[in-house]
Amino acid sequence: VDEAHCVSHWGHDFRQDYMALGQLKHFFPGVPVMGLTATADAATRADILQQLDLKQPFVYQGSFDRPNIRYTQIQKYKPLDQLERYIREQEGSGIIYCNSRKKVDDVSYKLANRGINCAGYHAGMEPEIREIIQRDFIADNIDVIVATVAFGMGINKPNVRFVAHHDLPRTIESYYQETGRAGRDGSPAEALLLFDEKDVARIREWISMTENPQRQQVELQRFAAMEAFAESQTCRRQVLLNYFGEYNATACGNCDICLDPPKRFDGT
Ligand code: ZN
Repeated sequence: VDEAHCVSHWGHDFRQDYMALGQLKHFFPGVPVMGLTATADAATRADILQQLDLKQPFVYQGSFDRPNIRYTQIQKYKPLDQLERYIREQEGSGIIYCNSRKKVDDVSYKLANRGINCAGYHAGMEPEIREIIQRDFIADNIDVIVATVAFGMGINKPNVRFVAHHDLPRTIESYYQETGRAGRDGSPAEALLLFDEKDVARIREWISMTENPQRQQVELQRFAAMEAFAESQTCRRQVLLNYFGEYNATACGNCDICLDPPKRFDGT
C-alpha cells in the first residue's frame, strides 16, 4: 500500500475510500502486506498500522532529514518579480507550487511571457498534454514546472534544483513531501517559501468550510503547525524534524534562519 498515510484520518491527505484497504488482510490472510509513506507524523504512523490491520509488524523508519536541501522563506510582496529573479539565479530545473489551477495558469503564462522556459501542470488539463509536459520536464526540455499538488506523485527526477511555494501549503506533510522533490541526487538544492500573512486568514477560511467537524479540527491543527513553521524564529530544519518526532539539538546551518538569524535586541 503506497502513500499509506491516505488511509489515516490523521493523515494530511485522507481519502475515505482508502479505509477499505484494511480488508486486504481479511481477504488475503496469507499474503504479506507492506505500507509505505514518505510523510507521516507519529499519530498517523500508529493509525496506519491499525487501519491496515497489521499485527506486530516490522516497522522501519528512516530519517526525515534532507541535509542538502536549504530551506528559505521570503516575504511575498511581488511574487512574479520575486520568482523571475529567483529563477534566473538558479542553475537547472525547478518546480513552483501554487494552491489553485487558476493561479497555475496565471503564473505560468506570465513567467513564459517574461522568457522563462516553463509550463503549467494541473489536474484540469488534458491527460495527453500533462504527459507531454511531464516527459519534457524529465528530459530537461522544460526548466520550470508551475503546478498544483497534482504534480509530482511518482515522478522521480533526481536533478530538480529548487522547489518554490508561491502559496503557503496547508500542512507540513505536504510541504515536506513537495520540497522533498528537490535534490534527490544529493547535490545542493533549495526550498523557497513565499510567505504572506494574508494567505493565513484565507486558508483558515477555506478550512472552516470543511463540512465534517472532526476533519475540520484535524486540518486546523495541521495548518497551525504549518503556520508555526512559517513564523518560526529558530532553525527551520529543527522545527520540521521535530514535527516528525525527530529531535535534533543542533541548528542545521543550512536554512535562512541559521544563515541570516533574525536580529534581536533587549526590549525591556
Ligand atoms: Zn537551520
